[in-house]
Amino acid sequence: MLLFTPGPTPVPANVREAMSKETIHHRTPEFEAIFKSAREKLFGLFGTDEVVMFASTGTGAMEASVINLCHNTLLNVNAGKFGERFGKIAKAHSLGNVELKYEWDTPASVEDVVEAVKSNADIDAVAIQISESAGGLRHPVEEIAQAVKAVREDIMIIADGITAVGVEKIDVTHIDALIAGSQKALMLPPGLAIVGLSNAAVEKIGEGRGYYFNLASEIKKQRQNTTAYTAATTLVIGLLEILETIEKQGGYEKLYADTTKRAEAVRASMNALGLHIYPKSPANSMTTIDDANAKEIRDLLKNEYNVNVAGGQDHLKGKIFRINQMGLIEPYEMAWVVNAVELALDKLGRRKYDGTANRVFNETIFA
Ligand SMILES: *Cc1c(COP(=O)(O)O)cnc(C)c1O
Repeated sequence: MLLFTPGPTPVPANVREAMSKETIHHRTPEFEAIFKSAREKLFGLFGTDEVVMFASTGTGAMEASVINLCHNTLLNVNAGKFGERFGKIAKAHSLGNVELKYEWDTPASVEDVVEAVKSNADIDAVAIQISESAGGLRHPVEEIAQAVKAVREDIMIIADGITAVGVEKIDVTHIDALIAGSQKALMLPPGLAIVGLSNAAVEKIGEGRGYYFNLASEIKKQRQNTTAYTAATTLVIGLLEILETIEKQGGYEKLYADTTKRAEAVRASMNALGLHIYPKSPANSMTTIDDANAKEIRDLLKNEYNVNVAGGQDHLKGKIFRINQMGLIEPYEMAWVVNAVELALDKLGRRKYDGTANRVFNETIFA
């Protein structure tokens, strides 16, 4: 079965192999050397002043960022399940919370965010997804971050890049926390979360807040190539291996260019089949199609053509399907996926099969 869900994504064979070695102790020079190399490579990937790893899923890094960087009121953009989560985290920690809500296909507007921070002096942090995975939507985070900083320089910008880091180059000039998770674009099993931080963020963190998710304790330890608690040794070994693999295969720029091209080719082939791309500003991390037959298409993909794509959640359950674009994906795999969608449409009596999806995909990607 081809795993084409926007997280978890397939783990390359050499990475699985690297993680199958005997467990090593985390307080050893041997592991610290691995940790150091992985950490150094993360600085290259994130482009931030500091970087911290947690043994947790991505949500742990969201919580760490909110509790350490927001001391008063959090403004969160909610255009999907993950944006909504930031608000829930703020409330769980009794922080003030203001939410800007959008339809799941609609990117946040810079003006709305600026208006909101201007009208509430208590807001000291803004949290937003770069790519909101609920609908495959790209928010204009860099513009929002810049505009917010122009209103009040000390407002912290928390950017959830869980389906963006490793997909595209992110301009971190005005971002204070950039969050990633292992099981999306980093092609690892779930369980490792990473936060890139600006110097301003490190300053605001001070002594830190929370216990396990106290960023100050982790920064202190990780600068010495160790962790406050037991490190996720196996995943850190896997992280080093995947970052080396990306380097060997041409580096981040090539990964971003390939992902962009692939996402464009899939969108073009879906359009050529008469299907509709759901988000008004699609992210390159996944291709989301809204369709009355979304459930039937998804079932056919799985049962007839061995392709596992994701559905929708909440009000979009049964109304969309999402095809992953993250990771090192071979064009022949992707070509099979778009071809399978066309075969499914034929089975549903929607459109006679003539190879259009595969042709358009290939014409776009090899143009
Ligand atoms: C998957 C995802 C998360 C949550 O990550 P977990 O690892 O499941 O905790 C948060 N934000 C975005 C944008 C995601 O895609």
